[in-house]
Amino acid sequence: MTNKRRTINVNVPRECHLWTKPGITAGDIQTALVQVSLYEDDSHLIRTLLKCRLCGQLYFHEFYEIVDWEQGNDAQYSSWIPIDDPQSAYDLNMLAPLELLRFGGLRIDFPTTADQPTPPYWRTSQPKD
Ligand SMILES: [Zn+2]
Repeated sequence: MTNKRRTINVNVPRECHLWTKPGITAGDIQTALVQVSLYEDDSHLIRTLLKCRLCGQLYFHEFYEIVDWEQGNDAQYSSWIPIDDPQSAYDLNMLAPLELLRFGGLRIDFPTTADQPTPPYWRTSQPKD
């Protein structure tokens, strides 16, 4: 019996304009990416596999909302993790939102203490294997 250990292939999307263009906006992300697969579709957790319509780069996208029952001021986090293949998206979907934090990617944060979300920014920490 073979025990295959799969690795999640997160990459640096050097060819993608989302990586190279300075000062990208949430609108740039929205117009660039088309949905390939839907994994979760909940009001507080949405997970999809997206693809750049210009270069074909794949991104695992997560929208995660932490409900603030007392103040009604929900925190919202979006991340787009660049990956090499659909299998990696499937494997990322097996992880909890907190576990996804160890992967680099494009992010928009909207914590409860903020009046508006951050502009999109790249977080470049890579998983250690
Ligand atoms: Zn692209």
